[in-house]
Amino acid sequence: MNAEARILEPGQMEAPAGEIRFLFLPDHDLFARRAERLRFLSEGHPLGDYLAFLALLADAQHDALNRFPPLPLPDPKEQALCREHGMPLLGARSWPRNPAWRAGLITILQQMKEAALPTAARDIVAGLMHAAETGLEETADRILVGDLVDIPPQELPFIAAALQVYWVYMASALHERAVGRMEEGGVCPVCGSYPIAGIVRSGGAEHGLRYLCCSLCASQWHMVRIKCSNCESTHGIDYYTLDGSNGAVKAESCDDCGAYLKLLYLEKDSRMEATADDLATFALDMLMDNEGKARGGPNLFFHPGRG
Ligand SMILES: [Zn+2]
Ligand SMILES: [Zn+2]
Repeated sequence: MNAEARILEPGQMEAPAGEIRFLFLPDHDLFARRAERLRFLSEGHPLGDYLAFLALLADAQHDALNRFPPLPLPDPKEQALCREHGMPLLGARSWPRNPAWRAGLITILQQMKEAALPTAARDIVAGLMHAAETGLEETADRILVGDLVDIPPQELPFIAAALQVYWVYMASALHERAVGRMEEGGVCPVCGSYPIAGIVRSGGAEHGLRYLCCSLCASQWHMVRIKCSNCESTHGIDYYTLDGSNGAVKAESCDDCGAYLKLLYLEKDSRMEATADDLATFALDMLMDNEGKARGGPNLFFHPGRG
């Protein structure tokens, strides 16, 4: 375990913000890529069974995404209003959810029913298939405001998976130009959620630049390096890695607010995917917990009570 001193990193000398691509919206291969990565990471991993389960869930998410019906999106007038006021276009807390998200949940559950799951998980799937709409909507509300603690840990992955599919579907239908910058640089400009991790890109015009990856809609937005995504302080930023790590994943911590966010350096491993690699580096979260730091954004597949 070691904390690195603040060092000059590639990408620190960056072009002015106006010349940098601000946003990458998610595409329809997201969940297929995630499933492949989760399968790879599950081999011989202490959390292998859970990562393999999430790979099946990501397969089901891929299927549900491709079956989504066309949905109404904010019209140009609403888009302009959101840009003008620095509001997210598809705010997780404010957007009136279309019942289609629950149809997506059923698609996911039907596919998971066919998978070889342990009995306990099969019971959860069967229970959720017949869950009351009001209960599901209440659970969704809680997930979307970040209140995960009271949600039954076995139900969380399924409902979070369905919400991700719905938001990824909508976000992928937008045009980058529809989305404006938020006043708060650390929240998703598309849906207003917190990031799951930061990604330092490799190759191309964005080489060495840091993009924050949304925990809900998987949009990626630019934020300069060596800056806390939580409070935007640029002082007291430290980097932590696990002993023996190749440095592909580091935790960037902030002394001012006590938050940290992982950074995935694609130059070290281009196959990394934010949700999968965040879960697979859980040991780094334990290290940061010991350091008295708290996560700057959630992973919806990690229940806070799971510890
Ligand atoms: Zn988002
Ligand atoms: Zn901070």
